[in-house]
Parts: sequence; C-alpha cells; structure tokens
Amino acid sequence: MQMKARDERWLQQILDKVWDTCFADVVQDNDVRIGYGRKAKRRLGSISLDPQDRTISLITINPLFRREDVPEYVVEATIFHELTHYAHGFNSPLAQAQVHPHAGGVMRREYAERGMLDLYQLQKRWLKDNWPRIIAEEFPRRSQARLTSGEVKLPKPFWWA
Ligand SMILES: [Zn+2]
Repeated sequence: MQMKARDERWLQQILDKVWDTCFADVVQDNDVRIGYGRKAKRRLGSISLDPQDRTISLITINPLFRREDVPEYVVEATIFHELTHYAHGFNSPLAQAQVHPHAGGVMRREYAERGMLDLYQLQKRWLKDNWPRIIAEEFPRRSQARLTSGEVKLPKPFWWA
C-alpha cells in the first residue's frame, strides 16, 4: 500500500481530525491555516497570527515531520499542543485563559482533561528516544557533535519553544 504523501493537505486532514475528536467544544471563530515552516531542532510547531492578515491563525509545523519514520501520533500530538494554545486564546480570537501559554502544567492538564494523556506520554517518549538521532541525521556535523556526545543534557522538554 502506498504511503500518504506528507504534504500540507495531509497536515490539514490531521488538524481537522484532532479538532473534531478532541476540541469539538472549541469554536473556530477565524480562518485557521496549517503548513510547514523551517526545519528546526527544537521547535516542533508554533501558532501565530498571519502578519499580512491578523485575523488568520497560522499553525506552522516542522518539516522534519515529512519523514516517514516520524509516527503520525507525534504529528497529532504537536497539532494538539498548538490547538491548546488556540483554545487558551493565544494567537486566536478566543479569550486568553492564562498569562503564559505554558504556565505550570497547563499543557499536560489539557491533554488529561480531553482524555489524551496517552498521546501526550507517547509523544514525549518517542521524542526522547528518537529525536536526537533524527537531528543528528538532519543537521551538519558541527552542530551534531553536541547532541551525540552522550552526556549532553537537553533542557526538558527541549523540543517545544
Ligand atoms: Zn507551546
């Protein structure tokens, strides 16, 4: 069976699925778009307002997620994370729920309250076990040395900006 091309339509389908299954109570009050941004080591995704039209929310996904060895649930969990920001009123038209987007445990709590704690933990575990290898493959040797030298302490969680 042919694998699905990991294009921006594929991202859109995952966004629709995560929104419908996990955030059905969250009203979409504006245009929300999703696409790939620049390859990054530590940022899996982000949500911002379109600088051309600040009524539009833009979800940007790390293009390393085009790799077939990144499980789809990692992409889902990343989109869940960005939709949590949306639901909390960060770069969305909704009322802001708290001052800081990652204030003490809000992210984990949101997965738990929406019955998705497994997804949260699966993503975390997969990143811990696999992300440093993918980064080592994707970025030139100079920056690789730091990540592969065994005793490196990565800030926790290192993959979210
Ligand atoms: Zn975040």
